[in-house]
Amino acid sequence: MKRELLATALLGTITLPFLCNINQTFAVESGTNRPTYQIDATYLEKKDIVKGHMSVTLPEIRNGIQNEVYFRLYPNVFQDWKYNKEAKPSKEGHIAISHVKVDGVKQSATINDTVMKVRLPKPLQKGRSAKIELDYKLYLPHGGTRLNKYKNTAFLAQWYPMLAVKDKDGWHTEPYTTTGDPFYSTMSDFDVTFHVPKGYQVISTAKDIHQTKENVHLQQYNVRDFVAVLTKDYQVLSRESGTTRVNLWYTNTTKDVSEPLLNAAVDGLRFYGNRFGHYPYQEVDVVLGETGYGIAGMEYPGLVTSLPKVPTSNGISPAVNVVVHELAHQWWYGVVGNNQAKEPWLDEGLTTFSEFLYMQKRMKQDDAPWLKRVAIKTDEIHRSAGITSAQRLYDYPDELYGIMVYLRPAAMMFALMDEIGEKKVMKILNTYYHQYQFKIATTSDFLRIANQVAGKNLTPFFEKWLYFKG
Ligand SMILES: [Zn+2]
Repeated sequence: MKRELLATALLGTITLPFLCNINQTFAVESGTNRPTYQIDATYLEKKDIVKGHMSVTLPEIRNGIQNEVYFRLYPNVFQDWKYNKEAKPSKEGHIAISHVKVDGVKQSATINDTVMKVRLPKPLQKGRSAKIELDYKLYLPHGGTRLNKYKNTAFLAQWYPMLAVKDKDGWHTEPYTTTGDPFYSTMSDFDVTFHVPKGYQVISTAKDIHQTKENVHLQQYNVRDFVAVLTKDYQVLSRESGTTRVNLWYTNTTKDVSEPLLNAAVDGLRFYGNRFGHYPYQEVDVVLGETGYGIAGMEYPGLVTSLPKVPTSNGISPAVNVVVHELAHQWWYGVVGNNQAKEPWLDEGLTTFSEFLYMQKRMKQDDAPWLKRVAIKTDEIHRSAGITSAQRLYDYPDELYGIMVYLRPAAMMFALMDEIGEKKVMKILNTYYHQYQFKIATTSDFLRIANQVAGKNLTPFFEKWLYFKG
């Protein structure tokens, strides 16, 4: 995500970033041990409802025994809103679940806010899988963050019951928060059919068909989640960037920035691909639009959203920095995953660095002096508030989140370039990208690779920047 007006209050009157190799290819195919979702969804436009039937085939159990399965029901946060009042939806929303079955047998589910537990009729042993089916009714909020109905467009983010992650720490059911992106998911395969009203178009994580059609069948393998925008209001500009097709979706009111933002997206994708490694998917969509209070843009696999324009030192300009920020997340979050609630700096810090690097190299915007002030300011914040740059999402007050989690790690990566050279830093990111492609990485994985590639012990350097040690 990219925050609006991030840190400007803290740093005073600085014009600036609006806040918020090895080129190997790898396969994006079905058939490995990933969850497989099949969703059949009907959009009832007039009722603001998406009616769905979903089945999820679990990956085979690798070790231990599994007695239950957890799902995340994020649309439920839009009911009885308990977060900051500025982000309160004007019309509430939620998701209702019915007819839960496990391997064809009716089963009850326990729902507590955004967490649903489905008990398995018999424990799953090693090497076994199970198929969970259910019906759901999604009531779309108006003015919801990420999940939103706006005019003739439904932004469907976290719009189906999402399988929670189970790892060595157990099931992850971290609570929702309006600070940052409190989501964590693993690679899955999706087979999604949409039934939409006449004149609607479906823009999604998958490779889309660019025409209005009432029944749309989409498949996408090896992605962390599946987002879709159902709309009657958008038009598209498309261009190739290497082996990826880039689509820039705009409305009548944002047509004036469509061309410069498509250029930025095409160039940004190429810029990151050359430095970090090949982008493995065939298509990426950039959708211009408002997606919630305080959010300038948001990343999803194969699709990002962005505001059309941002204030800069030259006045109001096309939101190039937001578009390239969100696209950098295709590398840091999309392909290389992390637990965004536990270690948000890992994707936001590397993404903000990628964005600033693009703005410096391609847009000739030098933010180095500003980032030096970020370093000084964050030292002060650490001294007074005790907070570091590598904590859980929940530890940050909203107003400190951006500067500590986005900006200080970005400043750290520029300082690292001063210390070991740009070439080595690019090699670190490239190696990290290839070693953790389609996996979940942690801070210690990143540090280990950095030390290996640099051929020296950088741990004290990272500890100073991330944890304020020494
Ligand atoms: Zn971000």
